[in-house]
Amino acid sequence: MNSLRELYRIGYGPSSSHTLGVGRAVSLFKTKNPSNEYKVVLFGSLAATGVGHGTDRIIKEILAPAKCEIIFDTETEKEHPNTLTISCCRYSGGEDGADSQDSCDFTSETFESLGGGAINTDIETATYPHKSFEEIKNFCEEKKINLAEYVYLHEGEGIREYLRECLAQMQETARKAVRTEGILPGKLKLERRAKSIFDFKDNGILTDEHRLMSAYAIGTAEENADGGKIVTAPTCGSCGVLPSVLLLASEEWGKTDDELINAMAVAGIIGNLYKFNASISGAECGCQAEIGVACSMTAGAAAFLMGFSLTQIENAACMAMEHFLGLTCDPVYGLVQIPCIERNASAAARALCAARLSAINDKPRRIPLDNLIEVMYKTGLDMHQCYRETSCGGLAAQFCSTCKLH
Ligand code: SF4
Repeated sequence: MNSLRELYRIGYGPSSSHTLGVGRAVSLFKTKNPSNEYKVVLFGSLAATGVGHGTDRIIKEILAPAKCEIIFDTETEKEHPNTLTISCCRYSGGEDGADSQDSCDFTSETFESLGGGAINTDIETATYPHKSFEEIKNFCEEKKINLAEYVYLHEGEGIREYLRECLAQMQETARKAVRTEGILPGKLKLERRAKSIFDFKDNGILTDEHRLMSAYAIGTAEENADGGKIVTAPTCGSCGVLPSVLLLASEEWGKTDDELINAMAVAGIIGNLYKFNASISGAECGCQAEIGVACSMTAGAAAFLMGFSLTQIENAACMAMEHFLGLTCDPVYGLVQIPCIERNASAAARALCAARLSAINDKPRRIPLDNLIEVMYKTGLDMHQCYRETSCGGLAAQFCSTCKLH
């Protein structure tokens, strides 16, 4: 498993696979192949929801001032649902350094955007020698260390500073979001709600805890939908779940930044297990792989902050995922707004509930985390394409009946 630096990425929304990952692929190709004109073909989910997710916008921005033709190919099936091919005439330059048509070599490369901003050309760093929660748990018990110490042992102390940077960005994004009003981009014309939830005067309907957590989760997801700066945790679409509980823990439970950083390390190792043994891509496994994983990570982090045992942390992470199995990805008009934004608040509340329920006892659950990760992956692969970030099924189908996948 790779470093947590590759799970938590600071970047701009609205989508880790459709903007962050694609953006990294396009930048890489552009650096290797300078040209005045590019052609980008998007396949699968990138073609189906690329416009709503801002894929075309980010490609044009990165390739500018070069010309760029973008083709949305929804017919051709590729092995990975988030595939793109970039091609160009690579100019080696004339004698005076000017581009010369005579020295043009046609070149093309295919990339896969794997979720969470990762792409297929990334090199496996193998920061962690263990591949399952069971192996990690056995190692921690043998060494008498907790999960955060496990992370520092394998990543080195430098990871604390990186996590501190991510935490600062999470705090800045969430606090900015609860002071911001307006309409989100896209044809839904959706109004931002985080500020009104944050300002809501409690009359016994919402507890302060629920109000704050919902405002921060929804606000962070609104910033993401608006193309704002966020931290993937593990993806852009699910970026509000973990920060909302971390901010709550600092403002209501009095936890320090150092304690929150430890909790992020715990959440990160749980997220990494999903990323390397299953998927964190909505296009590959539905929303259970994004919001479900964020909920599982956050439940583990909350249980850690509550001072629970390793088994209880595992139980919380399990409970959070077990009840999100089968969650479909069906964003309306391909925008990361409905159901995505509200789903962040719902997952944060569930994560907290799972962490608290794990306090009841210290006995292992019938289905351990490693098995649940496997079940989530199999369930995702079994899902009809309509429910894997194509905006062809579920809630999205209420707004569009012309999808060819039916
Ligand atoms: S429904 Fe879930 S997986 Fe799909 S775009 Fe929204 S947050 Fe991402």
